[in-house]
This record gives sequence, C-alpha cells and structure tokens, in this order.
Amino acid sequence: MTKPTFHLIGLPTDRNSSFERGPALAPPAIRAALWSDRGNLACEDGQEIGHDFLLEDRGDLPLTEAPTDDALIRTGVAASLAAGAIPLLLGGDHAVTFPIVEAVAAQHGPVTILHFDAHPDLYDLFEGNPRSHASPFARIMEAGLATRLVQVGIRTLNRHCREQAERFGVEIVPLADFTPDSVPVLAGPLYLSIDLDGIDPSEAPGVSHPEPGGLTTREVLAVLRRQTAPVVAADIVELNPRFDAHDRTAILAAKLLREVAALAARNRR
Ligand code: MN
Ligand code: MN
Repeated sequence: MTKPTFHLIGLPTDRNSSFERGPALAPPAIRAALWSDRGNLACEDGQEIGHDFLLEDRGDLPLTEAPTDDALIRTGVAASLAAGAIPLLLGGDHAVTFPIVEAVAAQHGPVTILHFDAHPDLYDLFEGNPRSHASPFARIMEAGLATRLVQVGIRTLNRHCREQAERFGVEIVPLADFTPDSVPVLAGPLYLSIDLDGIDPSEAPGVSHPEPGGLTTREVLAVLRRQTAPVVAADIVELNPRFDAHDRTAILAAKLLREVAALAARNRR
C-alpha cells in the first residue's frame, strides 16, 4: 500500500482579520519550526514524517489579498485532493476555512468538522464583512457543507453567536469541567480546523485575540487521538508571529501539524 501523502500548503493572507494583522506572516514561521534542527520529525505515536507518511511542501499559494483569493484557495485544495493527497493548510486568518471546505465538500460531499477555537466564528456579519475571520462557520453551515460541526475551546459566546449556533445546530462542547472524552467521536469524512487561540495564551501567545482559560496542548492532542474517522483535510490558522514569544506558538503549530498528519495517516489504514 502506498504511503499516505500530505500536501503542506501555505495561505499567506489576513485581509479578513478584524483587529490585528499578522497571520499572513504565519506560513514561513510554521515551516521554519517544522523543519528546524531544534526538533525532529517524529510524532507521539511513533510514526515519522518521511517514513510512515510523506509530507510534500507545496509552498504558498500566490494570494494577493483580493476577493479572487477564495478561488485560488479552492483551486489549490481541489488540485491536492485530485492528486490523492490530504491537504494540510497553514493560515492565514480563519476566513480561509470557508473556501477550503467548499473545495473539500465538492470532492467528498458534506463533511463533519471538529473545530478548536476560543471563538465560535459564527457571526452573520462582523464589522459589515460576511467573509470576516469571525464568520467562516456561518458561511459553511449556510452552504450545507457540513453535516455536523463540533466546537471545542469556545469561551467567548455572545447572544448573537449563541443564536447562530442554535440556528445551525452547532455542537459547542462546554469548557466547564472539560475532559477530552466529552468531545464526540465523529464519523467521516472528517475536517479538522485548529485556530491556535483555542489553546491557552500561556502556551500559544502568538495570536491576535488571546483569550485566557483555554485548552492545554495535551487536551487538544487527547481529543484528536480519540478520533477514528478518515481525515480528508485540515487547517491550522491564526498564528500571528508579531505577537509570538521565542517562536513558541510557531513551534506549537508545527507540532500540531505533525500530530494531525499522524492521526490522518493512522485513520487511513
Ligand atoms: Mn477562529
Ligand atoms: Mn479564535
């Protein structure tokens, strides 16, 4: 059996950010952490990049911070899927998830989504922008691209977003008394979306909207490890290198990338 192949695709864009710019600078920072001799290419379950699965770096898409970027993202993701690879997208701000999931659903049909974030990103409009990084999951649910959306790490739910969650049937796992086994194990095809601000700012300081009281890295890994469905694509978004401290958040993003790939490789077997 051929080894699972992942395509690493950078999305250097932050035009739909609402407060700070900076996530457009994230892809090279994550790549530098991933390939740095500071660490190695082993995953926690013993799989190794290059041995148990292949990780091909396809570079960054030539985004221009124009509305045409959405089509570039859809085309790039579609090409990766058509090649039989599992695309791993490096944001960019969280707005990128909508065109990514459009492309994934065009290939696989509606997906289940496991979404880590401090924020539900369900605004109908944020500051008048329907494509805001605060809105991608409203667009995804309206378009019928997901059969189930489970959100983990949410700790900023206001009235509007609570109404939106009810309207779309979004499942928000309570953070009070959180344990990893309180997160449902989803059927596939499974899409993973990791906004780094879902993790506590003590571990992930390099984000635009730090929110105390977040998940630990260990909890995120425990939630991921319980998932058994085929993973068809994933994103890691919202790293803001301008606010990072000694590259800690970039190093965390690179670790999560390895672990997501290891999970997807395991679940394909
Ligand atoms: Mn987000
Ligand atoms: Mn967030």
